[in-house]
Amino acid sequence: MSSGGGALAACWCCGSEYPEWRIVRLGAHPEAGVCLSCTVSLRSTARRRETSSANWPARAVLGAVDRARGAVMKRQWQHLPVFGSLLRRINRHLP
Ligand SMILES: [Zn+2]
Repeated sequence: MSSGGGALAACWCCGSEYPEWRIVRLGAHPEAGVCLSCTVSLRSTARRRETSSANWPARAVLGAVDRARGAVMKRQWQHLPVFGSLLRRINRHLP
């Protein structure tokens, strides 16, 4: 560790060096740190993996919603006011 504010820490993800304030340290391994931009990409990777995991309970719900949406579309029910507004409401809350 060098003194002064100019010390750089290497990101354990991308390998680039950043000032300490741009590094997030791991809880159980504070010697390991990840830069802020890598935390963002790790987060999106984790999110993708989470939503593609068969163990993710909400996946079953999303699948059911997708099937219901498909059934409504096939029957052209989205033109009925009740189903149209329901679908729009569901779509607003789903990825
Ligand atoms: Zn990084």
